[in-house]
Amino acid sequence: MTHDAIVVGAGHNGLACAVHMATKGWKVLVLEQAGTPGGAVKTAEVTLPGYRHDLYAMNLSAFAGSPFHAQHGALLAKHGLEFVGAPKPFASVFAPNSKPEWLGVEQGLDATLAHISRASTRDVEAWRSLNQRFEREAPHIFSLLGSPVPSWEMVRVMWTMWRKLGTPGVAETARLLLSSSRAWLEGQFESDAVRCLLATWGLHLDFGPDVAGGALFPYLESMLGQRFGMMLGRGGADTIVRSMVSALQGAGGEVRTGARVRRIQVSAGKANGVELEGGERITARRAVIANVHPRALYGALLGNDAPANSESARALRRGPATMMIHLALDALPAWRAGLELQSFAYVHLAPSMEYMSRAYAQALAGALPEEPVLVVGQPTVFDPSRAPAGKHVLWVQVRVLPSQPKSDAAGKLTVGPWSSIKDAYADRVLDILERYAPGLRQSVLGRCVLSPEDLERDNPNLVGGDSLSGSHHLDQFFAFRPSFGRSRWRTGVDGLFHIGASTWPGAGTGAGSGYMLARDLT
Ligand SMILES: Cc1cc2nc3c(=O)[nH]c(=O)nc-3n(C[C@H](O)[C@H](O)[C@H](O)COP(=O)(O)OP(=O)(O)OC[C@H]3O[C@@H](n4cnc5c(N)ncnc54)[C@H](O)[C@@H]3O)c2cc1C
Repeated sequence: MTHDAIVVGAGHNGLACAVHMATKGWKVLVLEQAGTPGGAVKTAEVTLPGYRHDLYAMNLSAFAGSPFHAQHGALLAKHGLEFVGAPKPFASVFAPNSKPEWLGVEQGLDATLAHISRASTRDVEAWRSLNQRFEREAPHIFSLLGSPVPSWEMVRVMWTMWRKLGTPGVAETARLLLSSSRAWLEGQFESDAVRCLLATWGLHLDFGPDVAGGALFPYLESMLGQRFGMMLGRGGADTIVRSMVSALQGAGGEVRTGARVRRIQVSAGKANGVELEGGERITARRAVIANVHPRALYGALLGNDAPANSESARALRRGPATMMIHLALDALPAWRAGLELQSFAYVHLAPSMEYMSRAYAQALAGALPEEPVLVVGQPTVFDPSRAPAGKHVLWVQVRVLPSQPKSDAAGKLTVGPWSSIKDAYADRVLDILERYAPGLRQSVLGRCVLSPEDLERDNPNLVGGDSLSGSHHLDQFFAFRPSFGRSRWRTGVDGLFHIGASTWPGAGTGAGSGYMLARDLT
């Protein structure tokens, strides 16, 4: 059977691309090597029956706010898409007995300012003026992140921005885009606690506090969190995957799981189909769209058909690794700093800039951080359907780890492959959590630890356990993602396109590359 398009990889970008093309009348087949679609967005009962864990992504705000959702949200809702709002999106806990001992961001300016005022009255004014700046600047920044790069559309966005904000305003945005989180936050706020509250978001995109380009995400997350809270999926983050698969099938498309593509077929310089592991060949009339890592695309999948200048795309540098710990709990963590923390979606455990810098530097040097940066997700506070009545699941993301540990900064673990150390390292994480939430260990009913190796085994796009499929540092962003000359999702092979977290506009659940390419093609 011939399809108009074959999408390799059922990540949310591949599915978004397929849904858009199918609604335009294209006959689309999505091929996924894993047993379940979704890539880095999956929900499963990995601890005990009845406890549903978001294995990877939990925060769906990027999807809910995306142009793809704006266009197809009504269709997806008919196919079961359901969000749950978390009006208290995130908080940070600081060292015991420090003042304040924790801070949070809530939906609503006044509610957030009430938190900030516990740290500094001057920073209340600083937050207020940042909020006003965001109102002026945000439409331009989001238009920029939602445009193909390079493109006339992007030039138009920048021209409009210059007309509205003037040269000083554009310069201020440019400076933000180039700044490290520490440099930028020191210029905004006087309180270490407020700076720290925001800077942890840089680490979600693998920006240590002193890496240029790390200021943008903390700025956007804090201002968006204060406006919209956080969006979670009802029943699990996989609501976006299930609804896209169903919408695709409803529009005549198909998703095949357990179908690993081993080769993209190219004839006379044009991609015309794929070959599966096992030898089956499937042809595509109009396009082959690869939602894979560039190392695989320009390596095994294209082989000798890879264009001559593909080396820099293939060499996309990975970011540090990540590890997931999923807990089934008898009760929510009893946060020592204040039980109000139980009402936040994320609680960040990275109590100072120095702590973040140390963990980041240790990971880059190949050492297991003595005390890693932790993101603790509490989804059952907002969506009790994910666990039996009165019980909870906890989502613990251990940020910035070495992909292949060479040493232990604490000097305690005999280092080997992740499979041999993941449980011992998870115990270290639980010891840290226990300090902040005494009694946690006793309420653990079940646990599942996913090491960086486990992440890559499930999804080859997460090379070395890099949650972002390629570092987002400035030299690999904008027109340099995955490499200069390979932006705009072109590959140098006719009929073959490249989408996904390794391409512009990068990682996250915003479906940007899949949707923008699909619009381009149809
Ligand atoms: C632990 C973790 C936590 C995260 N948390 C968040 C969060 O809370 N919020 C957020 O916005 N983002 C988060 N992210 C990032 C976000 O989930 C990803 O950037 C995004 O889901 C990537 O989507 P994608 O479609 O580009 O690719 P992927 O989701 O990586 O999907 C690619 C798919 O292609 C398949 N594939 C690869 N090669 C082949 C082949 N040869 N043949 C067939 N199939 C193939 C893979 O199996 C996979 O299913 C997180 C990521 C991780 C890992």
